Amino acid sequence: MFMLRSFKYRLFPNPTQAAGLTDMLGSFCDLYNACLQQRIEAYQRRGKSLGYIDQANELKAVRLADERLAGYSYSAEQQVVRRLDKAFKAFFGRVRRGKGGFPRFRAKSMFDSAGFRVGDGLTICRNRKITVVGIPGEIKVRWHRDLPAGAKISTAVVMRSCGKWYIRFSVETPDAYGPHPFREAVGVDVGLTSLVATSDGCRVPTPKWIGKASKKQRRLQRALARCKRGSKSRLRAKMRLARHAARTASQRRDFAHKVSRDLVNRYSHIAFEDLNITGLASGMLAKSVLNAAWGQLISFTDYKAAYAGGLVAKVNPRGTSQECDCCGRVTPKTLSERIHDCPGCGTVEDRDIHAAKVIKHRAFPWSKGLGASLEASSQRVAA
Ligand SMILES: [Zn+2]
Repeated sequence: MFMLRSFKYRLFPNPTQAAGLTDMLGSFCDLYNACLQQRIEAYQRRGKSLGYIDQANELKAVRLADERLAGYSYSAEQQVVRRLDKAFKAFFGRVRRGKGGFPRFRAKSMFDSAGFRVGDGLTICRNRKITVVGIPGEIKVRWHRDLPAGAKISTAVVMRSCGKWYIRFSVETPDAYGPHPFREAVGVDVGLTSLVATSDGCRVPTPKWIGKASKKQRRLQRALARCKRGSKSRLRAKMRLARHAARTASQRRDFAHKVSRDLVNRYSHIAFEDLNITGLASGMLAKSVLNAAWGQLISFTDYKAAYAGGLVAKVNPRGTSQECDCCGRVTPKTLSERIHDCPGCGTVEDRDIHAAKVIKHRAFPWSKGLGASLEASSQRVAA
């Protein structure tokens, strides 16, 4: 079993190299648009649909005629042609489902990435810098963490985002860990007061930056709305908003990585509510930021658990905070009631932690009432 994982690093090109990378993306953008134009014309004039093979076959001749393209990596340019092909395939898929949305011509300012095969057009040097065909010299990389040992690097994407450059490697790693040694099951309730509450009674309070970030986002959005269309100040406001969004996204990612790592290290079976059904936090100031944080936490936990041989389950969220985990009695509560106080069996517990227990037992009924892990693991086979 192999898994595809991605590793992203910051690039530090010097000014000449940064200009070279910008030119390269510009040329690739032109190539993308030219291929789109060709497809449209072929269809309009001859009623013929061009495919990837048709256009890729022509690429060699195009490179001979265009010295700009000739200077860059051939395989990277094939990726550009493939990218258009993917856009068309997605379009045809949408058409079948009755929704339009024809592939569009792209603006250079929005064409932000180029794909490479590592060792062909993009190389990692001995000194841990990278070279890109058509870009002078070696580009510095900040390896803030190592690529996994023995990993096979398949592809790399060079990206521009908010004026910074990054590289993302796709790496095939052997799924070396095998099945997770049985440890323990846990239910996780995501909420507003505690961002995360577990059935074991742990809580992660909602980080302060979530409220701050959403307030600032609203302020910047209002500022953008006030600017005149096409004006310089609008462009500046747009950049400010984009930078803020990028910063929030990286804080959120960092947070999701930490919490998910912790969960996967401690538990083999992890249950969440299925957020696609929930529609939580409506009308809240921090709604979008929170929803994104939860979604990311669940997806990170999912892939980390898969890598470690664990399991993530998503349960129907209906009534998880109303139901009693001990006797099953349903007691309606308002959002402001923070305590679960069951009139049926007399259980009194924090609302979020009790909900986490309900989630745990919905996903893993075998874990109910079992203390010893040995007992649980035999139950697990039965379940
Ligand atoms: Zn009860």
